[in-house]
Amino acid sequence: MSVVTRFAPAPTGRLHVGNVRTAIHNWLWARKGGGRFILRLDDTDAERSEQAHVEAIREDLAWLGLEADEEHRQSLRFAHYEEGFERLRAAGRVYPAYESAQELDLKRKVQLGRGRPPVYDRAALALTADERARLEAEGRRPHWRFRLDHDAPIAWDDLIRGPQHFDPSLLSDPVVRREDGSWLYMLPSAIDDVEMGVTHVVRGEDHVANTALQVQMFEALGAAPPAFAHEALLVGSEGKLSKRLGSLGMDSLREAGIEPISILAKLARIGTSLPVEPVTDAAPLIESFDFATFGRAPARFDMAELEALNAKVVHQLPYAAVAERLPEGMGEADREALRPNLKSVAEAAGWWEILHGHVEAEPAPEDRDFLEAAAEAAGEIDWSESPWAALVASLKERTGRSGKALFHPLRRALTGRDSGPEMAALLPLIGRDQAIARLRG
Ligand code: GLU
Repeated sequence: MSVVTRFAPAPTGRLHVGNVRTAIHNWLWARKGGGRFILRLDDTDAERSEQAHVEAIREDLAWLGLEADEEHRQSLRFAHYEEGFERLRAAGRVYPAYESAQELDLKRKVQLGRGRPPVYDRAALALTADERARLEAEGRRPHWRFRLDHDAPIAWDDLIRGPQHFDPSLLSDPVVRREDGSWLYMLPSAIDDVEMGVTHVVRGEDHVANTALQVQMFEALGAAPPAFAHEALLVGSEGKLSKRLGSLGMDSLREAGIEPISILAKLARIGTSLPVEPVTDAAPLIESFDFATFGRAPARFDMAELEALNAKVVHQLPYAAVAERLPEGMGEADREALRPNLKSVAEAAGWWEILHGHVEAEPAPEDRDFLEAAAEAAGEIDWSESPWAALVASLKERTGRSGKALFHPLRRALTGRDSGPEMAALLPLIGRDQAIARLRG
């Protein structure tokens, strides 16, 4: 049996690191199994779903390299849900219920007041045909509940959480369809998983309670439930899913110079017993992917750690992987020289500009002699090893200057700027002749 996974975002917003992590795990598992990875857009909620978000989701996945083998939209599949629903209705597994939200709320309060769990009492199941007709004549429209089988204990062996057990008699029959005929998430999702041949449902542990209900829906639809893997949630470094993390989108990571492969490397592994390592392609992540390595504790995401990992990834990326994003004229040797100092690919442009751009730096009158001395020193030092250290040492001796009075005029004259990358790294690249020329002004 070949693996089929699906990533099922609702296009009601942009993807953020939390749901991208789920997408990555689904993709890795499908690739490892040589199977299919499906993008399923959960857009039954016409009001909150937006085409712009659909496009952004596709773009983000493409940027990350998580290409889907198939794409489906729930909004185009209503006929399938209708058909599944009718089958369940004919089998007595869905039934109409007429309580208003206020009536249900009151029932819950009474139950809680009596110290009982607030489980739906199935009053609607006891209605006679006459009683239903009377309610409908009053203008009441039913919503629809899925009837749990109280005699069929719910159990599955979760690939991350281990054996799970639920007593169906302690659960409310879930509402699957609203008064206006619109669908709640659970039944369409189960119907899709059956029809699309999904073998593994990989999603956040906030869905565990839904899974308990869906296990019986699969069975009622005549299908064996897929395997489930519920992953612990992603939290920020401060220990909870902060608002910031919930809105940390791929666009802002891209702008921060984070490489897609760095995101994969990080999100594939945090929360698992495998180390987070800089990689330059997904192959090692695919090969090592294993639900058995996933922990039960929340996975902590830290932006500073991602940036540090990204710097290591950028150092390792081969020239060919970045060439088209480098500034015009920057060859392999140039990049090689800069590579240890680049924290992002885009930074190369800034360095390039400093090395080869025109430097406009009118020195302050009090620095003129100093810079002349610097030009002389630059002509005498040994350039083969650490020219910056040599230049600084020689100038300290010649001029008695130190600290800012020493460094600042040099940086300005050599780079035209007040701040920037380390001079020790820049000076060898600027080179002897260009350095002397810039110091002479
Ligand atoms: N649209 C649901 C969500 O984003 C899908 C959950 C699932 O994977 O089944 O939470």
